[in-house]
Parts: sequence; structure tokens; C-alpha cells
Amino acid sequence: MKITNASKLPDIIEDWANYDAYQRGNADYTTTELIKPPYMLDLERRHKDDIEVDVAELTWRLSGQAKHYIFQIIAQQNPERYIAEQRYTMAVAGVTISGMGDLIDLEEPETLYDYKETKVWKEILGDSEEWTQQANINAFLARNIANIDIKRLVNIVILKDWAVRSAFRDHSYPQNPIRAWPLELWDQNKTLQFIQQRVALHKSIGNGAPPAICSPKERWAKPSRWAVMKQGRKSAVKLFDSGQEATLWIAEQSDQKILSLAERSAEDTRCLFYCDVRKICPHGREVIQNAK
Ligand code: SF4
Repeated sequence: MKITNASKLPDIIEDWANYDAYQRGNADYTTTELIKPPYMLDLERRHKDDIEVDVAELTWRLSGQAKHYIFQIIAQQNPERYIAEQRYTMAVAGVTISGMGDLIDLEEPETLYDYKETKVWKEILGDSEEWTQQANINAFLARNIANIDIKRLVNIVILKDWAVRSAFRDHSYPQNPIRAWPLELWDQNKTLQFIQQRVALHKSIGNGAPPAICSPKERWAKPSRWAVMKQGRKSAVKLFDSGQEATLWIAEQSDQKILSLAERSAEDTRCLFYCDVRKICPHGREVIQNAK
């Protein structure tokens, strides 16, 4: 990956971005790679020297990277209790996989922690599927390689766009910018089956058939919606799947004179903002072009 610096940030930020402390080991797949969409991972691997990411886009990744050092220092001070950033590698499903949780707390119940920075919408939607998959594979490795019987999976989640004003006004909004987010713990069999399925999916790419692009779910696709807006208010009063439904609803409201309708276009959010290969992937390029 080439790091660019379009906004001419100081050298120290560029050095920070180029400092790659991440060691993936020699495994065929890391946990992170295993849960990625196969089409995306294939593009990443084939174009690893062509991918360009601007240092400014890496802000949150760099911030997350820094927090990992805190875990390491805490573990060094209390090695009887904590293990930080320990990578475990194992042969499974005909390949080698490696994974590393951020921190293991050996005190009962043994807990595997991961540090995540995300947005408020993730907390509101309660979407933790990929986190659960990642944590369970890492727990599987810790159990089988280091004989640590992980009994709890918890992500320490920082909501980077959290706003104190919204928390004050709206009690359904997350009330704190940090939370411990428990994840479902799978048994060994379920995790093994999941690993086998993911390996088979990744191996199927490049086996002759043209690769299918990432699924709508993998692209974090959002369908188009219709928003009812109210004069003097920034957020939508109500969202609808069709313009007709929204129009009917407005017609029933007593304040309909100050209501209006706005279409929110469908969006492949991951392709537009978050995928490292979006400028190489034909679908990603199209999504970016259409959004301009
Ligand atoms: S840009 Fe979209 S479709 Fe292309 S690899 Fe990335 S997530 Fe998949």
C-alpha cells in the first residue's frame, strides 16, 4: 500500500502512517482476512502494490493503533493477569490461520477484549456480526494454541462521532462515548465450521469461475429511502421505503404545510468510503463516479 499525503500534513503524521508495526505472520489468512469479502481480499492481494491511501483517510486507524500500545503497557505491568497483542497461528481447514485479540484478561471469567472505534449508527443498529466472527476465531486460536479457555468476548467500543448534546436531549441516543460491548461466544464446533466455510469461499476465488463482486450485505448497501423533513429541523421526522407511503403520511399530519419530502439515494457505503480497493475495483469506481 502506498501512503499519499495530499493535504501536506507534517512529516511526523506521514511517518506514523508508514510505521507498520502490524505483523501478520506467515499464515495463509489472518482472522481479519478470513472475514473479509473474498472478492475484496483477492483484489487487495493482487494489487497490494497499487493501492493508494491518503494519510488523512487513515486518521482513525492510526488513532486505534496508538490505543493498542496502552494495552501492551498495562499487560507489561501486570503479566500475571493480562496478555496483550499475542498472535496465535494454527493449521486448520487445510490452511494456516493466525489471529490476535487486543487483550486477554486471565482472571475468571477469562475474557478476550478487542478495541474498536466506530460510529453511533453501529451502536443504534446493534450491528456486531463481523466483530462476533472475528472475536470467536481469535478465541478459538487462544483455546487451541495457548490452552486459554476464553469464556467471554467483549469489545471496548469508542463512538467517535458521539455528541454530548444529542445524549442530553435524546435518551434513546447512546448516553456515553465508550461502552463494553459483549459478543456472543460460539462453541468450538460452530467456530470450526465457520472457519471451514470462510476458507472454502476464499479458495473458490481464482478457481476458474469469474469472481462475483461483494454481495449487497458485504457492500453495506443501503436502499433508497424517502425522508419527511420539517422546516427548522435538520434530521428527518420519519423515513419511508417509498415516496408514495411518505406522501400519504404527510397528508394525514396537522402540520403538513411545513413538511417536505427528500429522496435519499441508495448507497453502497463500504464501496464509497471504507474499502481500500475501491479505486481499483470496477464496482467501487462506478459507485464513486455516480456519487459525484
Ligand atoms: S469497492 Fe465494493 S464491491 Fe469492490 S471490493 Fe470494495 S466493497 Fe467489494
